[in-house]
Amino acid sequence: MSAFLISLAWFLLFFGGAIYLAYNRVNLLTSTVTMGALLLAYMLYGSWHPLWLLVLIVAYGALVVPNLTEFRREKITRPALDIYRTMLPSMSATEKEALEAGNTWWDGELFSGMPDWDKLMSFPAPRLSEEEQAFLDGPCEELCRMLDDWDISHERGDMPPEAWSFIKKHKFFAMIIPKQYGGLEFSAYANAMVIAKLASRNSTASSTVGVPNSLGPAELLLHYGTDEQKERWLPGLASGDEIPCFALTSPQAGSDAAALIDSGIVCKGSWEGKETIGIRLNWDKRYITLAPVATVLGLAFKLYDPEHLIGNQEEYGITAALIPTDLPGVEIGRRHYPLNIPFQNGPTSGKDVFVPLDFIIGGIENAGKGWKMLVELLSVGRAITLPSTAAGGGQAASYAAGAYTQLRRQFNLPVAKFEGVGEALARIAGHTYIMNAAVSVTAGAIDQGEKPAVPSAILKYHCTELGRKVANDAMDVHGGKAIMMGPKNYLGRPYMATPIAITVEGANILTRSLIIFGQGAIRCHPYVLRELQAAEDRDSERGLIEFDDALFSHIGYAISNAARAFFLALTHAKFSRVPLNTPTRRYYQNVNRYSAAFALTTDFAMLTLGGKLKIRELLSARLGDVLSCMYLASAVLKHFENQGRRATDLPLVEWSVRTLMYHAQEQLHSFLRNFPNRPVAFLLRCIIFPRGRTYSSPSDELGGKLVALITKTGEARERLSEQAYRELAANSPLGLLQEALQLSEQHLPLEQKLRQARREGLIRSEYLGHQIGEAERAEVISKAEAAELRDYHEKVRFLMSVDDFSPDEIGRPGHNTDNPAVPEMAHEDAPAVPAAEEPRTKKPAGSKAAKKAAKKKAGKKKTSGKQSATTS
Ligand SMILES: Cc1cc2nc3c(=O)[nH]c(=O)nc-3n(C[C@H](O)[C@H](O)[C@H](O)COP(=O)(O)OP(=O)(O)OC[C@H]3O[C@@H](n4cnc5c(N)ncnc54)[C@H](O)[C@@H]3O)c2cc1C
Repeated sequence: MSAFLISLAWFLLFFGGAIYLAYNRVNLLTSTVTMGALLLAYMLYGSWHPLWLLVLIVAYGALVVPNLTEFRREKITRPALDIYRTMLPSMSATEKEALEAGNTWWDGELFSGMPDWDKLMSFPAPRLSEEEQAFLDGPCEELCRMLDDWDISHERGDMPPEAWSFIKKHKFFAMIIPKQYGGLEFSAYANAMVIAKLASRNSTASSTVGVPNSLGPAELLLHYGTDEQKERWLPGLASGDEIPCFALTSPQAGSDAAALIDSGIVCKGSWEGKETIGIRLNWDKRYITLAPVATVLGLAFKLYDPEHLIGNQEEYGITAALIPTDLPGVEIGRRHYPLNIPFQNGPTSGKDVFVPLDFIIGGIENAGKGWKMLVELLSVGRAITLPSTAAGGGQAASYAAGAYTQLRRQFNLPVAKFEGVGEALARIAGHTYIMNAAVSVTAGAIDQGEKPAVPSAILKYHCTELGRKVANDAMDVHGGKAIMMGPKNYLGRPYMATPIAITVEGANILTRSLIIFGQGAIRCHPYVLRELQAAEDRDSERGLIEFDDALFSHIGYAISNAARAFFLALTHAKFSRVPLNTPTRRYYQNVNRYSAAFALTTDFAMLTLGGKLKIRELLSARLGDVLSCMYLASAVLKHFENQGRRATDLPLVEWSVRTLMYHAQEQLHSFLRNFPNRPVAFLLRCIIFPRGRTYSSPSDELGGKLVALITKTGEARERLSEQAYRELAANSPLGLLQEALQLSEQHLPLEQKLRQARREGLIRSEYLGHQIGEAERAEVISKAEAAELRDYHEKVRFLMSVDDFSPDEIGRPGHNTDNPAVPEMAHEDAPAVPAAEEPRTKKPAGSKAAKKAAKKKAGKKKTSGKQSATTS
């Protein structure tokens, strides 16, 4: 063998050995001994150049030093810790509390660069109990049946009183309340499925039911309330006698909710005739869901004790209390009008409202802990209500769009057959599958006791964004049918509602830019939080020891991630270990690859940008996207397993994971393009993309399989829209569309006969409505067949039709003061009218005033919604 080849073999042995040890995260001592043995063998048997040997000895020295714990601690860690302390990002107490909320779950594995899939796969698939299933099939279906979107959104501006009563009677507001207080005590999964079903039918109902089961008084009481408070409020909240809302947002404090200026001053006052120490509250809140009809407000305010009546502190910070709305000084009743979706939402204010100290949730010990309470609860709640709302909307859109585009014909073909429409349909189906998977898998984890703060933020952002994309696509493939408002339009209002979910519970831009990666980087990273805590340790020697351990483990972890990212990229992750040998195997491997690349990039970003990463939102948002894509792809893979690995769903899984991992690749690429430290960006690109950006988005052929899946009746179409309300009934568009789709499939042989007859010149018309008669007369089809086809044709004609109105039925907004859906305008910046001069009206649903208003409306002429048919 030539000297060159021998040298090359030694080089590969060193390089490969180092990569192997780092890739497998072999511990430091074993790695040092192994590399030492290799170096010795080389010195004994190799033919080395002295300079090359020097390089190897220096490199080996760098491996030996970290084994000398005392030496490295004094000479390396101590100066490093001093520098690190100067780099620490400044963090407010509220930010720290937000970061510490919840726990880490699968997100932590993705951050590790070496996810342990067994951990995810060992989670049981979420299942509904018999009672939960019966609730979904019974009261939940029944409520959907009672909801008429046009009546609610256009005529009434509210749900009908019978729907309100039904909701209260069947405890829709009490899904999270334990049975001991009269609640339903449902799992997170059941809660999500109920919301998804309601959202597939009517956004007003899903928003109304979602809020009391999400962050609100019940949730706060359950976690932090005193026993007396639980006994006082929970039974009433469970029975629906009490209607809750949670008031945090104020005109000055939106996204920066902790900046609220609403105040509570500790003072002496009179409560039930006795002088007592209590709180004098003043607030001005807006956007509060259910406030107009609430009987109890969960109120967030800042607590001050200027006279030191309860302790030595003057300022306690954000505090949460429960305030009955019938106390003097509380104002509720006026409504906002959120994008034509008339769920109860409005402002509330309070002027010198006096309450005893024990109105603070959890009592006086919880004074000033309101923010911590909120963010802790949000770390779970955010994963349920809004994501399942988006998933339910996606399921309905997918079911409707699949059938509609198959029934609607243009250029003599179902529009679903056109590739352009197919592209949008594939997105609708794939995005819906991703939302379903994310909601189901995460709710399942919550039911196993996890409090996944970062996945909650991921779900909140991505499901609501995907929901918006699905709504856009569904609008496009329906054409004018979805544009013309009226009782027959089943898409217009859900489409209008999408920005609502985007805005609430942490507006999306902020969630993506600040929270997902910001929180993830610190919570999920295996060493960063340890390093931060060690650096802040007041016992500096203990801090040094802890920091030293975390730092060197961190360095080893970064080296391992570099080795893994490089090797996995070079081999397209083909040899990466994954738990299953199924057709989805490659997708697990792709996640492994990006996990290592992401972990490495994160470390370099934090090392070079330090605290500045927080304000470089575009960079951290892109890293957040990579993490989110990996999380969602993992959820898709797990959901596929949870559902029993159905072969018919495979195209959905492939499309979803491909789309997500392609996006992860592109976001990583954009991150590197924009990373300010160019040499580091170059180095990272060499490690992460040594073969360029090789991952491709789903092929057109794969997209075509998704189109087939939702445009034809079958188990995959049904499973994708499992929770959607799709009963066959006169006012159920999804049921009617499905019926027509089934008929169209049944009648394919008859339509085939008509086509053949037309080719043979037996019938002349191109239009089905005319062909039926011609074919009957020419005896191409029998009388019975003609009747069947006519019935089918009429059904399709009805489904394709839209509403029209007489000119006076389309009123000018603001002029129809009888209709609460067009409320009297009030401007925030207009001079305030003192409450004494013009009291705000308080008309909780079911109150006398509300009933009177409902009666008045019932007498009003109804919109005709006259039908104008378009051709099928
Ligand atoms: C229909 C509806 C129902 C609601 N229900 C309730 C309720 O029941 N209780 C309650 O307390 N509140 C409620 N809210 C309030 C909701 O939580 C706030 O609207 C939300 O926090 C955003 O505040 P804002 O609307 O003032 O937007 P702003 O804070 O003014 O934000 C404007 C834009 O700036 C972005 N932004 C702000 N800061 C940053 C940043 N640092 N980085 C990047 N982007 C940033 C936001 O993402 C947003 O896109 C509701 C709101 C709506 C619309």
